[in-house]
Amino acid sequence: MTMRGTFRNVLLRFIDVFVPPSVSLKGEEDVRRCRVVISFAFALMVWGPAYAYLYAFHLSCSDGAWTLLAGTAMAPLTAVLVQITGSYVLCGNLVCFGMALVLVSLSLITGGHDSPTSIWLAVIPMLATCLVGVRTGIAWAIVSCGVIIEFFTFDGFGLPVAQILSHEQLDLLWFLSSVSLCCFLLSVAYLYEMLKDKALKRVAETNAELATTNVDLMRAKEAAESSNRAKSEFLANMSHEIRTPMTSILGYTEMLLDPTLDPSEAYQAVATIRRNSEHLLRLINDILDLSRIEANRLEVERVPCSIATLLAEVESFMRPRADAKRLELRIVTIGPLPERIDTDPTRLRQILLNLVGNAIKFTQDGGVTLEARQVPVNGGCGLQFDVVDTGIGMSDKQSEGIFDPFVQGDSSVTRRYGGSGLGLAISRRLARLLGGDVVLLRSEPDRGTTFRFRLPCKDAMPVPAGVPTRLSQGALSDPAAPGFPQLRPLSEMRVLLAEDGPDNQRLIATILQKSGATVDVVDNGRHAVEKALEADVRGAPYHVILMDMQMPVMDGYGATAVLRRRGYARPIVALTAHAMDEDRERCIRAGCTDYAAKPISRALLIRLVHKYRPSRRRSNAPAAAK
Ligand code: ADP
Repeated sequence: MTMRGTFRNVLLRFIDVFVPPSVSLKGEEDVRRCRVVISFAFALMVWGPAYAYLYAFHLSCSDGAWTLLAGTAMAPLTAVLVQITGSYVLCGNLVCFGMALVLVSLSLITGGHDSPTSIWLAVIPMLATCLVGVRTGIAWAIVSCGVIIEFFTFDGFGLPVAQILSHEQLDLLWFLSSVSLCCFLLSVAYLYEMLKDKALKRVAETNAELATTNVDLMRAKEAAESSNRAKSEFLANMSHEIRTPMTSILGYTEMLLDPTLDPSEAYQAVATIRRNSEHLLRLINDILDLSRIEANRLEVERVPCSIATLLAEVESFMRPRADAKRLELRIVTIGPLPERIDTDPTRLRQILLNLVGNAIKFTQDGGVTLEARQVPVNGGCGLQFDVVDTGIGMSDKQSEGIFDPFVQGDSSVTRRYGGSGLGLAISRRLARLLGGDVVLLRSEPDRGTTFRFRLPCKDAMPVPAGVPTRLSQGALSDPAAPGFPQLRPLSEMRVLLAEDGPDNQRLIATILQKSGATVDVVDNGRHAVEKALEADVRGAPYHVILMDMQMPVMDGYGATAVLRRRGYARPIVALTAHAMDEDRERCIRAGCTDYAAKPISRALLIRLVHKYRPSRRRSNAPAAAK
C-alpha cells in the first residue's frame, strides 16, 4: 500500500471511531456524510484557534479573536452531538449555523459590507452541500444571500472598516478573504466533480442494469422462441402420430363394412384397428403422465415385486416387435439379483419398456440386449439395467436435450421412425421419482446406443407365501386365466349401466351380456337413481352400478351423491373418460366405491364387475358395498 493509502486508512479509522453505530447500520451514504461532518468538526478545531491568533495579534481585534474561539467550541460540540443523535443532517446544519454566526459577527465587528470577511458567507452554502446535501445547500445559499444583501443595503451595523484597521491590517484581511474565496472556488470545483462522478456512476449503473435486463430479455426471448419451436414441432409430430393410426383405424373400419370381406381379412382388419387404437391410447397416457410429473402430481408406490417376473414381462411384450424386425432380443442377468424388491412395478416396467422399445425402434440390424445386474446405488443396494443396441446411434448434437420433453434426435429421424419425443423425458423423470436415474451411456452414429437405468432398492419385506406380487397380478386380467374358470364369469349378475353415449352403451352392455350378466341401460343420472332405488324396492337389486360421470340431466357425481343420501349402500363404480388422479379422488369423494378410466379393455371390464359378484351362498342377496 502507498503512503497516501496508509495515511487515508489511518485517518478513516480514526474518524470512524466517532461514527455512531446507528449511522453505520443505515448505509454507505449516511456513513460517508457523517465522516464529512466529523472531519469538518476536527478541521474547525485547528482553523478556529489559528484565525483567532491572527485576529488577536495581527489585526489587534480581540473581539474577532473571541468570536472565532467561541465558534471553535462548536467543533467538539458537533462531534458529541453526532454521537448522541446519530443525525448528520442535524449536526451539519448546526455547524453551518455556527459558522454563519461567527462570520456575521466578524463582519459586523470588522465593518459591515466594507469588511472582506462578509465574502466568507458565500462558503456556507458549499459547506451545507458537502455536509448534508444539495437541498440544504440551496437553503443556506438563500440565507447567505439575504445576509449579504442586508449588509450592502443597510451598510452593515458596524463602523467603516478603513477607520478601524490600519493599512497593513486591511491588507491581511483582504489576503485572508482571498484565501477564503479560493477555498470557496475549490469547493465549487470539488462539489462539481463529486456531483459529476455521482451522476456518471449512476449512468454507468443504469447502463449496467439495462445491459443485464437486455441480456435477460434476450434470454427470455430465446427461451420463448425455442419453447415455441419445440411446441410447434411437437404439434406437427403429434398430428403425425395421431393421424397415422387414425388413418388405419378409419380405413380398416370402412373395409369391415364391405359385405364381401372374407373372415380372415376381417380378422386382420380388427387386429389392425386394435393395435392402432392401443398406440393412440399409449400416446395419450404419455401426455397425461408427463403433465402429472411436471405438475408434481404423480405419486409412485412401493410394493414388493419380482425382478424375474418383470424381466419376463418385458421380454414377452417386446419379443414380437423384435421378431417382426428380425432382431435378436436378449435379456441377460449378470450375477445374482434380489428376488424381490420394493418399488413401483408399473413405473419400473414403463421405463424398461420405453428404453427397450426405443432400442428396437432405432435398430435395423443386429440386436438389442437388456443387461440387469445388482450394483451399489447411492451407497445402498441397487439395480442397474443397461439397454444396448446396434442401431442408428446418435451424434453428440443429436443427443443434446433428448431427455427434454418433445425433443427428438432430429427431424429426419422423426420422419423415418415417428415418435412424440416424450419417452425418454418420462423415463428419466419416473426414474428420478423412484430415486434413480436414466442416462445415455454411449452412442455412436451407425454403431449403436447404450442407455443405463439405475434404481436404488431396499430389499423387499418378506412376501407371505402364495401372495402374488403386483407384476404377476397382471395375469389375472385375462378372464381365461385361473381367476375366471367359468365360461360366463358374470352369470346371474345384475348390472345397471348409466351411460349417455350410444356406442359405449352398446359396447359395454354387449361385453357384459356375453359374459352372462343382465344389464339395464339408462342414459342419465336421474334415471339411474330411479332405476336403482326401484330395483331395491322390487327385491332384485343391482350387484353393481357402472356410472359414467359426465351425463346430461344429472351427472354421475350428482346421481351417486343422491343415491348415497337416500341410503343406497351397494357398489357404484365410476367409469369415466376423466383419467387424472384428481378425477379418481373426486369420484370417491362423491361416494363411488371404485373407479375405472375409459377406455377399458374387455378383460378389465369383466374383472371389474366380477369383483362385485356375490358369493354362491348368497347369490340372490348381493353384498353391500359399505
Ligand atoms: P421418441 O422415441 O418418441 O421420439 P424419446 O424421448 O423416446 O422419443 O426419444 C427421443 C429421441 O432420442 C428420439 O427421437 C431419438 O432421436 C433418440 N433416441 C432414443 N433412443 C434411441 C436409441 N436407442 N438409438 C438412437 N436414438 C435414440
